[in-house]
Amino acid sequence: MKNVFVVDHPLVQHKLSLMRRKETPSSEFRRLLREVAPLLLYEAMRDSDVEFRDIETPVTTMQAPFLAGKKPCIVPVLRAGLGFADAMVDIAPFVRVGHLGVYRDPETHQAVEYFYKMPPDMGSRLVILVDPMLATGNSATAALTRLTEKGAVRLKLICLLASPEGLRKVGEAFPDVAIYTGAVDRGLTDHAYITPGLGDAGDRLFGTA
Ligand code: URA
Repeated sequence: MKNVFVVDHPLVQHKLSLMRRKETPSSEFRRLLREVAPLLLYEAMRDSDVEFRDIETPVTTMQAPFLAGKKPCIVPVLRAGLGFADAMVDIAPFVRVGHLGVYRDPETHQAVEYFYKMPPDMGSRLVILVDPMLATGNSATAALTRLTEKGAVRLKLICLLASPEGLRKVGEAFPDVAIYTGAVDRGLTDHAYITPGLGDAGDRLFGTA
């Protein structure tokens, strides 16, 4: 699929497999999500612009590359996205963080928004939506629609696991949004869970199952 990047590095795959196991406790699940998050962000920022500036090292002068342009904005989708966001901020402390609260109606599986707070100038930043599970694609599509309405033009999506259905839905609505994922699973259950998946990421992260 165009614009879908599977981060198939063995380190990511190993951690993902540990997260999938049902006996993995919340404490370990949370730690693993924090460990995977920067590895996914690293890939998503691979094509970032850099500018060269003169610096002095202890040895000599040189033109050194620095990230260019306005600070990117990471947007975790509440609540599971929070497990990603802090760890991403650790390796990219310059980013801005927006918050988007969307829950999945248990009956209709449609996305319902309940919170929205973004930094200014969304149109001139790279906006990276982060949500561990891309299942039906309803929440991600709703979030991307909202961000676009608010002026965001350069958008990417990072998830840990994706379903083919979710990728198709987002890809059709937002063909220019690059999606970075740890794996593409087989499909969705009748309750719109990713299978084989890892269960409810929010519950496993916060121990609320
Ligand atoms: N959200 C989750 O947390 N898990 C899924 O499998 C699907 C959506």
